[in-house]
Amino acid sequence: MATIIVRPGRERPILQRHPWVFSGAIARVSGNPAPGEVVEVCAHDGSWLARGFWSSSSQLRVRLATWDANQPLDETWLRDTITRAVSGREQWLINPAIACRLVFSESDGLPGLIVDRYGCYLVIQLLTQAMATRVDQVVAALVDLLAPRGIYERSDADVREKEDLLPAVGLRWGEMPPRMPVTPITALGQPASGIRMFADLPAGQKTGIYLDQAINHARVGAYCTDADILDCFSYAGGFALAAARAGARRLTLLDASADALTLAGENLRLNNITTPAEFVEGDAFHILRRYRSEQRQFDAIILDPPKFAYQQAHLERATRGYKDINLQALHLIRPGGILATFSCSGLVSADLFQKVIFSAAVDARRDVQILERLTQAPDHPVLLSFPESEYLKGFICRVW
Ligand code: SAH
Repeated sequence: MATIIVRPGRERPILQRHPWVFSGAIARVSGNPAPGEVVEVCAHDGSWLARGFWSSSSQLRVRLATWDANQPLDETWLRDTITRAVSGREQWLINPAIACRLVFSESDGLPGLIVDRYGCYLVIQLLTQAMATRVDQVVAALVDLLAPRGIYERSDADVREKEDLLPAVGLRWGEMPPRMPVTPITALGQPASGIRMFADLPAGQKTGIYLDQAINHARVGAYCTDADILDCFSYAGGFALAAARAGARRLTLLDASADALTLAGENLRLNNITTPAEFVEGDAFHILRRYRSEQRQFDAIILDPPKFAYQQAHLERATRGYKDINLQALHLIRPGGILATFSCSGLVSADLFQKVIFSAAVDARRDVQILERLTQAPDHPVLLSFPESEYLKGFICRVW
């Protein structure tokens, strides 16, 4: 097995179980590891630190998966670790219609592996060379553990490029998943929302729906009773659905994708929602400005844009983008109304995001109170030794 020797002084994060070793931390490689192969990671003095998976192309050279020298990273380890991840979600799995993330990559000790469950079907994403070369083992483990009706691969995320992997999409086991209604998870202790959403696993964005916002839909919806709301970046309308359920008076859904709006309309019908709804296809940056010139006002606006910052170099442009849409939205909110604003860019910390909203509030000359701070749903856990796993942040604000 190849051995990776880290530079002096670079052992600390590894000892603290941070799972990433970047190329800059590596002093030398002894051996010639193949893409995705298991490697040993040692300190400069030769002492063993951890074991992980090699990537031949990414700057992120090793993803660590065990700090126990006696633990081989073999098929049994893969099965046991998937089993552990699933056991942590049992409370949601009781309901057979529920959509839930079962494996969240590094947070579940399985770097590069995402498994989402949509009713009787599973979607997998294999985002590293290590997982891509173990696709058969992953599928076999999931079949034995969960006996799904079908397993569909959606490894079409851009991050595969960094791993020198082509997109991989298709049925890997069993039956082709149909377009089906599923129920997103609710917070523990909360009654089931009863909301259903269509999931189209082969064609939907991400693996079908935005599971990470499942709990936030209801949290935000609770502030929308009697409100005229704008669900901006609506995709399948998760926030609008929850707002309607909570008694919103009027819904406006805005998205750049016509398919997303069609899906949102179908979801409103699926839930027998009769609240007046308008569907607006277009660029939020332009349409928010147009609404301002038309002096249009809303009681609540939800801003849930796609990821703006993919790398450190884009951070400044991303923060300008966040400030712009938040500033525009603040102009459109009636005094006492609600702004629910999100960022799913991992590189934008909650602290930075709060500063961006502050700066928008100053420019808009509005008083803004944070009522709630939100994060990703608990089936997307944040691993303490890996703060990067906390990527979604949001604020529910009252705007005066
Ligand atoms: N709020 C949704 C998820 C939104 S994902 C939920 O809770 O499920 C982000 C959405 O923004 C996508 O549907 C994408 O089509 C849309 N989008 C991306 N850029 C946009 C733009 N400039 N203007 C409007 N919508 C945009």
